[in-house]
Amino acid sequence: MTETIKELLHKLSSGALTSVELTSNYLDRIKEVEERVGAFITVTGEEAINSALVADANVNSPDDEPGPLGGIPVGVKDIFCTDGVRTTCASKILENFIPPYDSTVVTKLKEAGAVIVGKLNMDEFAMGSSSENSALADTRNPWDLERVPGGSSGGSAAAVAAGECVVSIGTDTGGSIRQPAACCGIVGLKPTYGRVSRFGMMAFASSLDQAGPFARTVEDAAIVLGAIAGHDEKDSTSLDEPVPDFTATLNDGVEGLRIGIPKEFFIEGIDPEVEAAVRAAIDLLKSKGAVVVDISLPHTHYSVSTYYIVATAEASSNLARYDGVKYGLRVDNGGGLMDMYRDTREAGFGAEVKRRIMLGTYVLSSGYYDAYYRKASQVRTLIKRDFAEAYKVCDVIITPTAPTPAFKIGEKTAEPLTMYLSDIFTLSSSLAGVPAISIPCGFTKENLPIGLQIIGHHLDEATVLRTAHTYEQATEWHTRVAEL
Ligand code: GLN
Repeated sequence: MTETIKELLHKLSSGALTSVELTSNYLDRIKEVEERVGAFITVTGEEAINSALVADANVNSPDDEPGPLGGIPVGVKDIFCTDGVRTTCASKILENFIPPYDSTVVTKLKEAGAVIVGKLNMDEFAMGSSSENSALADTRNPWDLERVPGGSSGGSAAAVAAGECVVSIGTDTGGSIRQPAACCGIVGLKPTYGRVSRFGMMAFASSLDQAGPFARTVEDAAIVLGAIAGHDEKDSTSLDEPVPDFTATLNDGVEGLRIGIPKEFFIEGIDPEVEAAVRAAIDLLKSKGAVVVDISLPHTHYSVSTYYIVATAEASSNLARYDGVKYGLRVDNGGGLMDMYRDTREAGFGAEVKRRIMLGTYVLSSGYYDAYYRKASQVRTLIKRDFAEAYKVCDVIITPTAPTPAFKIGEKTAEPLTMYLSDIFTLSSSLAGVPAISIPCGFTKENLPIGLQIIGHHLDEATVLRTAHTYEQATEWHTRVAEL
């Protein structure tokens, strides 16, 4: 279960394999490993076979193009609305919610011919870095079942690493694609904010949320990004920009490419094995012709506090809609409207979600708004400017994705702040809205994957992907498979 999209499309078009066979193989694999991995909240086996039948019919039909993902099994984070299929956000408040429409990402996947095999586990409302905040499933890291897969898109990362789907979709608000990709030894790409539509993607922090692909290879990530990106009238923040063919420039190399190394990211507390792997990766790119430039992103130091003010403020507002009135859980003990609101939210939300709602409400409340929310918005502008300044002297920025490899289940649940620090290297690029990828760049002595982060200019996913592909083609980390 390690074949790439290209290899599979070739087999499908030549008739060596049908999508029904391929999909059945993946559904069998899900049955075989799910008890140990726990990546899915819902497996949509029947729907998958039906889409595979359509894909097979299209392969042989002269009028219907199979599409860039024609017949390929894909998993989707359970934050994307799927018409007629339960969408929970890993929360009790949406445990039985069946949306009447598809999110734009899902519509585009279907248009591209993808076969959706199921909905993947995550931290409740995407709040977390380990997937332990899910109210509905426990996901384990395929490389070590006693460790977390990362989060919040932990199910999406684990499913690809465990061979339960070819590629998957996650969302990243402050690191939730890149950090789990690093933990699970695969590729995860957060596009530029606005590159992919947020319509039908349940909102956590609307000014930061962005959807993107998980894959085994950079080329597969580029193909999936091409399929889901693009302007959407239904999302006012989606960018009206042309979508290039992200695969076209993958092989252009890194000769003369300027790689910025920000001194603020190589700090005390970073795992020495992680630092060594990242430094070796930089040397490798240098040997391929890249030029290394020392840079500074001076406000990096403020990114954790800024993020946890902006994101919680937006979350407290976004999550006001879950009140038991129109959809989702309702707990009504006959005590009137206010009681119904309170009892529903008390029963429906988990501890981390409640913590964020309280923090967010606090930083937006009158008297504190200026000191916290307004100040954080101003610092966010400074963080954005840091990147704009840096990109005057470099083309991409390279850092570790996370300070440590995947940690043990339960290790960080008692102390929210230590959990928040797992995202210390991914938050600033989220606040700046720029694209960033994580790719595998080594393994620790304990055989845990290490992630390399490559951050690009606004809308320049192509250079990020090209740099990542050049590195990947010169190494063999991406060919390693977790033994289950
Ligand atoms: N781990 C971060 C948080 O808990 C980021 C989550 C995300 O990107 N969705 O908010």
